[in-house]
Amino acid sequence: SIVAASAMVVGLAACSSGDSGSGDGGEGEGGLIGVAMPTKSSERWINDGDAVKSQLEEAGYEVDLQYAEDDIPVQVSQIENMITKGAVALIVASIDGTTLTNVLADAEAADIPVIAYDRLLRDTTAVSYYATFDNFLVGQQQAWTVTNGLGLTELDGTPIDGAPAGPFNVELFAGSLDDNNAFFFFDGAMDVLQPFIDAGTIVIPSGQTDIEQVATLRWDGETAQSRMEDILTSEYSGDVRVNGILSPYDGISRGIISALEGSGYTVGAEWPVISGQDAELDSVKAIVAGEQYGTIFKDTRDLAAKAVEMTTAVLAGEEPEVNNTEDYDNGEFVVPSFLLEPSIVVKDNIQEQLVDTGYWTADEIGL
Ligand code: BGC
Repeated sequence: SIVAASAMVVGLAACSSGDSGSGDGGEGEGGLIGVAMPTKSSERWINDGDAVKSQLEEAGYEVDLQYAEDDIPVQVSQIENMITKGAVALIVASIDGTTLTNVLADAEAADIPVIAYDRLLRDTTAVSYYATFDNFLVGQQQAWTVTNGLGLTELDGTPIDGAPAGPFNVELFAGSLDDNNAFFFFDGAMDVLQPFIDAGTIVIPSGQTDIEQVATLRWDGETAQSRMEDILTSEYSGDVRVNGILSPYDGISRGIISALEGSGYTVGAEWPVISGQDAELDSVKAIVAGEQYGTIFKDTRDLAAKAVEMTTAVLAGEEPEVNNTEDYDNGEFVVPSFLLEPSIVVKDNIQEQLVDTGYWTADEIGL
């Protein structure tokens, strides 16, 4: 399409100007771009920040990269600062997608384009475009991780002939309700799990199946750990074992693993199947060790490239390529989005998915 073609030209121009150092590229001559990230407490956002910064610098921009340590007022004032310093564009991964309405209105008033990064910016007209992964598919893949580990489906969700009838005891965890992604992940996962629940193949002994009941504020691992401990104490006495746990994020999975270890579970035949997200190094090691069954890999380098391409296109007065104009209504309008494709990592494909792609080295993982 014309839109896609022009976006490619802009992308190429942005790259080559950085390389050659001629024209308006190099040494930050393109202007200052503010990049607001939620927290350094999770490895993925560090990788995202590094990738966005280096790619913008290559394209000839100066970068103000800030992390807010999951503190909303801090993120607001960081963005205010970027506007004051004369940023020409903002790339924002929010903590709470609904809390930036006022500061983003200031950006809009100053004609500063805003790109929503990974998480949708809600209740604002100030956002121009949204770069993310297919979040519903992420949720489906998290559920397929669990059903695959239980022997019910292939990793792509294809039912396995002669699969065990169960019933399997499964518990559900969701992410933070102030993050729009949490709903997409959970909806995608339940799209896969509900038919198994309806058929009685999967049961949820805690009875907690609403997103409000299973959510984890700020995606916090310790919060998940104590909820898992409570569930194990109240629902899993005697011989009753938990067979699978839907977890939306590696940090939550690590909390769940601690809870299991604390209540006497040991890795082996009776250890439950646990999903995750982000391919964080400690969790990839946990997959190698058999503690976590799988994770969802979302290559932060690709997401950074997409966000940078969108930003440079908008600054050049072009329309960046999008592939979704339906799903991400932010309460004000449907934000034009580009969704990248996530993939499932399990023990067998760590080499191919994470090492061959250069995301982690075999050394880092300890392979
Ligand atoms: C991201 C996930 C991440 C989670 C917790 C979500 O918005 O899409 O990749 O696991 O936040 O940081």
